[in-house]
Parts: sequence; structure tokens; C-alpha cells
Amino acid sequence: MTSLDTPVQYLKGVGAVFAKKLSKLNIKTVSDLLYHFPLRYEDFSNPVDIDRIKVGQQNCLRGRIKEITNSTAWKKRITVTEALIEDETAAIRAVWFNQPFLVKNLKEGDMVCVAGLVKIGKNDIFLSNPVYEKVSSEKELDNLGHLVPIYAQTPGISSRWLRYIIRPVLDRQSKEAEEILPDEILKQNELLPLGHALWQMHFPDSPALAEKAKTRFAFEELFLVELSVLQARLKIAQQKAPAVLLKADLMKKFTDSLCFSLTDAQKKCAWQILKDMERPCPMSRLLEGDVGSGKTVVAVMAALNAIKNGYQAGFMAPTEILAKQHFYQTAKLLRPFKIKIALLTGKEDQIISQKLGYQTKDGFRPETIEISRNKILEKTKKGEIDLLIGTHALIQDKVKFGKLGLVVIDEQHRFGVEQRARLCGKEKGGQMLLPHLLSMTATPIPRTLALTVYGDLDLSLIDQMPEGRKEIITRIIPPEERKAAYQFIKKEVKNDNRVFVICPRIEESETNGEQDVQGQKRGNWSEAKAVKTEYEKLSKEIFPDLKVGILHGKMKSLEKEKTMRQFRDGKIQILVSTSVVEVGVDIPKATLMMIEGAERFGLAQLHQFRGRVGRADQQSYCFLFTDSDSPNAKKRLQAVVKAKNGFELAEKDLAIRGPGSLGGKKQWGLPDLAMANLTNLALVEKTRQSAKEILQQSPSLKKYPLLKERVKTFEKQLHLE
Ligand code: ADP
Ligand code: MG
Repeated sequence: MTSLDTPVQYLKGVGAVFAKKLSKLNIKTVSDLLYHFPLRYEDFSNPVDIDRIKVGQQNCLRGRIKEITNSTAWKKRITVTEALIEDETAAIRAVWFNQPFLVKNLKEGDMVCVAGLVKIGKNDIFLSNPVYEKVSSEKELDNLGHLVPIYAQTPGISSRWLRYIIRPVLDRQSKEAEEILPDEILKQNELLPLGHALWQMHFPDSPALAEKAKTRFAFEELFLVELSVLQARLKIAQQKAPAVLLKADLMKKFTDSLCFSLTDAQKKCAWQILKDMERPCPMSRLLEGDVGSGKTVVAVMAALNAIKNGYQAGFMAPTEILAKQHFYQTAKLLRPFKIKIALLTGKEDQIISQKLGYQTKDGFRPETIEISRNKILEKTKKGEIDLLIGTHALIQDKVKFGKLGLVVIDEQHRFGVEQRARLCGKEKGGQMLLPHLLSMTATPIPRTLALTVYGDLDLSLIDQMPEGRKEIITRIIPPEERKAAYQFIKKEVKNDNRVFVICPRIEESETNGEQDVQGQKRGNWSEAKAVKTEYEKLSKEIFPDLKVGILHGKMKSLEKEKTMRQFRDGKIQILVSTSVVEVGVDIPKATLMMIEGAERFGLAQLHQFRGRVGRADQQSYCFLFTDSDSPNAKKRLQAVVKAKNGFELAEKDLAIRGPGSLGGKKQWGLPDLAMANLTNLALVEKTRQSAKEILQQSPSLKKYPLLKERVKTFEKQLHLE
């Protein structure tokens, strides 16, 4: 007897060898197998006669194999399998690449059902890489019926084999699978019950039912996400945090000390944050604002207010370069307030005392005293350092604060309760006060994401730019205008400005998932400009008389820092870089951003690059280079030219490119259907509403033990913290 927990190894027809192969698809138990959903279906329901086949289209036909052979394509090391398939009306060639094992499955005389694209060859038309189903009798052909599931491929596991294994399992076990969705939720949302949905997912009776089954499971996955983030919210709401009084006079003194006045959006966000921190319950807030919208000042206000209430603040940046940048920036902003700020990085440990700040000809430079890292840790623990700035990793595992009131995180969205608690260094049993949390991001977050993976955070939005910024002129540069663009670069450099050149990284192609059944790779990355080649070309051929530098992720962080410094100081005039410069880097003299292979980047990412220039009062430019003449690529780049606002772009990107534009599955570990439905705002809203209703009835899900169990296992798969 098998149950849902039975390892697949014990299923008839599987055994140890196949079990091992299945484990590569993350299928370990019978239940995993049932939840291994097809990528799509092949419609075998309406076969055409071979003499009625339509060239250039998908066709399904039935026939007998007249002959089948393997050969090796000339010069290339590719096996080509060719079969001649014949019905009463005619015959057609079917061609497969790199599947030499096919000849073991398909023999002369076999009856087959095949479906695929019909292409024009040199001498004839042929079926290119068709999906096939072998049928031993007419009866089986009827059983095969209509929509045939096609699963993600892994070596040695064909869709055909999976169908053969899954069908009997469904027969026995689909009734046993326990429904986790509460009855009222199923009814309200008109969802298929589990057993039925499982059948329709694997062997649908119609496309409409396949769709309904899909919706049910998408609902289920999103529902679990919602339960998880809403529960996280409830949990946080039960914790205690220091109530930080809003010191209005102090805030006024701070804003008066700035050489600009805050935008209305900055004021609104600062107010929301400061009010939130007055409550004795930990704030969890995301401060979202376009590049250059001035998030730092707002965060510094919150930090200053907390510090003058007697608490410490921690400030984490994603990289060392940025940590250092923040260190100098905040030191400058807080100069009138006598705050003890320390920088903790991997290389140097510095503490500065504001009294030592002095004016130089390039502006304010705080004098720094270097002290040992241990000393900094000790002082932090004793509460003698008011504001500790560092990289994320460092603060995470080593540092304990004596009296932490606020943690600010730049461009690192996820930071859980556990991590917050760890920073406080309180003994177990003692009353634990969690710090408030302010996470900052310039990455625009579409509404569906705000409601799902960021659903446990409150949002403050800086939706306005400081006045007086010049609009960055953005242009798409076709190949024939490249020369002129290089001339323009020369001119900019002559005017003592700096130029960024961004090259796309060579992307790996997806190995699993949405590739087509025959394993053909999608996309062609061979043209991607490697940053090193581009550097060679620009420094030797195009601009031999200018100073060209290179920056990429593989460089050591000291090297990177040195390069950035040289770029800032003009010892490098043109910096050829990968996307490592994407976030936060501030080079006031940079006025030209040129992006190679622009169509390969996400729109939001292009916008981020663009934000690296135009940071002072000079007119700045963004040149998008592309060789692509795909209409879709043009459309996307046009969107960058037109839109001045990152939020608009993110929504557009989501609409044009789909959920892939959101950074992909890897980032959050969301299951496939949830990911695919991140474009479906209506569905997301429905699941959120349902999750709220259920949690209202039973905040700990005690009333729904099965659901509770599932949420728990589900959370382990998510990388939300
Ligand atoms: P981001 O939101 O991208 O982190 P920053 O906080 O680094 O932006 O601010 C970008 C620049 O704009 C900084 O030099 C900052 O001093 C300046 N700035 C911030 N707020 C204003 C404002 N209201 N008016 C003018 N300049 C501002
Ligand atoms: Mg910033």
C-alpha cells in the first residue's frame, strides 16, 4: 500500500534508478509527484491528414513509422534522428536533434501520434522536433484522447514516462490527498476541490478545465504566501519596541541645517516614519523612492531622532563602497549634532567624532580616527557609539548593540525578526525590545509584489524628485550612429565630465523549466558584450588618448574602491563596467551613461543605471545602444526614453516581460504558479482577502491544522527572510 508520503522509489515502474533521477526534479514522495505539474499540454485531439498539413504552424497527426535512423550532422557533432511517418494520405519526415536514444523507443511499424511545427527544408517540408506519443492500438489512441501533459524535462525522465507513472498514482491517491483550503474559501472563490483539480491539472478534459485547475493551485500558492506574510505581521505586532518620541524642535533644527528644503514627499515620509516609531511596537517599513529622490536624509532624520532619545542606530549598506559613502554623507549631515559615528567594514575600522570635522576645498571631510574592530564592537555594546554604519553581513553576525532603537537598511529588503533580535544581544528571558526597522529601496515595487513578498512591510513612498534637477536626455542609438556617439563622449570628457559604459553580463541560459520540450535553448547570448573585450576595444582603438578604466564583480573590493576613487578624481575618465554600478554609487561629475546591449536589461535596471548620472546640476545623457530590431525590444527601450519615473517603468516591464522582470524565482523561492501569477493583481487581492478572513477567525490557524502544517513547510521553501 502506498500513501502520499511513500518514497517514489517504491512505486511500480520507478525503482532506485528512476527515483534518483526524479530527485533531481525535487520529486521524492508520491505527493511530490502529484504536485509535479505539467508545463503545458499538447493537443492530440484533432489530428490532421498528412496531406492537409499547414506549413509554418503546429500540426498534430497520426501515422505509422516507415523508417527511422540516426545520423551525424556534417561538421557539427549533433545527432540527427529522422523518421518517415505515413498515413493513408501521405508521408512526412520528422526530425529530432540530439536525441539519439529515440531510435530505441520508436521502431519501424510503430503507430504514433506526433505534434510539432512544420518547417520548409531544402527539398521538402518536415516536422521539427515534434512531441510524440507511441500508441500500440486504436483503443489506446482514444484513451490518449485530448490534451497530453508535457512536463519539464530532465535527462532520462520523459513526459511520456511521467504520464505512465502519474496516472495510476492519481487513480489511487488523488482522493486521499487532503484538502487544505477551507470550505468557505473554496466556495467563495469557485475553486476546484483538490482531488478534481489534481486530475484536471495532469489530464485535463478540456483547456477550460486545465485553466480552472491551474487557477486553483495558483490561488493555493498565493494564499500560503499571504498567510505567511500576514502572520509575520501579527507576530511583529505582539513584540515590543522602544517608543521613540518625536522631537519636533530637533527635527526642525536638522532641516534648517540643510542647504535645501525637503520635498513634500520627503516630509510626508519622514512624518510617517517618526510617528510610527512613537508606538511601542516595532516598525517594519519600506521607504521606497526613485534614484536620487533623497531617501538618505529621511533615514538620517529617523536616526537622529532615535539617538537623541537615547537609543543607537545601525545603518547597513549592501557594499563597502556604499557603506563608506554613507559614512561620509551622514557625518556631513549630522555635523551640527555631535553624534558619534563609526564605520565598520572588513578592511578598516574607523570612528569619528564630529568635533574633528573640518572644511577642505572639496567640501567637508570628517577627520577619522582609526581604532580596532574589537574596540568598535565593545563601544557599540556599551552604547558609546550612536550610529554604526557598515555592510550588511558584518553587522548581521558579529555586532551587538547596547541600546538599539533603529536599524536602517539600504537596498536589502528582507530582514526578519530573528535578525533584528540578534542585533540586540539581550539575554534569553529578559524583556526583549526589538529595534524599529527602516528598509530603503530604489527598486520600484509593483503592487502585486507589495501585496505578496513585501506584504509584511508598511510602505512609505517618496514619489517626487527634488526641484531643479535637469531631466536626463535619453536616446536610443542605432548602429549607424555609434561613431557620432563616440565623438560626443570625447567632447564630454574634454569638459572634465565622466562617462560610464555598461556592458551586459553573459547570462546563463535556463537549464530547467520553460525551455521547449526538445531542450532547445532559448535566446542567444553569444553577442553579449563581455566587459573585458569592450574595455580593450575602447582603451586601445576608440579612445587611445583618454583614460579608460574597468570595473566588474570579480574584482577585489579594495581594487573596486580604488577604481571608483580614480573615476571620481578624474584619473579614470571612462569607466567600462558590468551592472555592479547599478545601485547607489554617487559620482557628481558623471554626465553620460552609455549602455551596450540595452535590450538585455530590465527596464527598472536601465532606469537605475540612468540614475547614476545627472546627480549635479549639469545636463546629463543616457545612450541606449542596441543592435536588436525586434519590435518588442524597441517598445521596451522606447518606454525607458519616455518614462521619467521608475514606478511607471516597473509596471510596464511587468506587463511586457511578465514576472521574469521581477528578478525571478531564485530571489524569493516562490513556487512556479505563484510566480507566474504575480501579474494577476485581481487574484493576488482575492487571496489576500481570503487569508485575512481566515486569520481573523483563527490567528494561529489552530482551527485549520492541515493548513497550518502546510504554511509551515511552505515557509521553509520561501526565502522571505
Ligand atoms: P537616494 O534616494 O537615491 O538614496 P540620496 O539620498 O543619495 O538619494 O540623495 C541624492 C542627492 O540629493 C544627495 O546629494 C542629497 O543631498 C540631495 N537631496 C536630497 N534631498 C534633497 C532635496 N529635497 N532638495 C535638493 N537636494 C536633495
Ligand atoms: Mg541611496
